Amino acid sequence: MSNQCPSCKQEAMGWFKKVTLGPGRTVACQNCNARVTVPVWTIVAVVPIVAAIFLFNGSAFIIALLVLTIAMSAVWTFVPLVEK
Ligand SMILES: [Zn+2]
Repeated sequence: MSNQCPSCKQEAMGWFKKVTLGPGRTVACQNCNARVTVPVWTIVAVVPIVAAIFLFNGSAFIIALLVLTIAMSAVWTFVPLVEK
């Protein structure tokens, strides 16, 4: 898991907040209030989410949901937090 604040080394935020965080959006660490965000390259993880929703809109919702889950897990596991 990669939910560590780059400033205080404590858990910066909860799971949902992390996976819904995008480049350009900052969130205050729940411990030290440092502004943290995810690196710009996180956008590559968002592409399959958008593609899935676009391609499977309505007809195969379960596939879109599956891709979304995988992409969110990848963000949670691999994307480090950076201080803004
Ligand atoms: Zn912190």
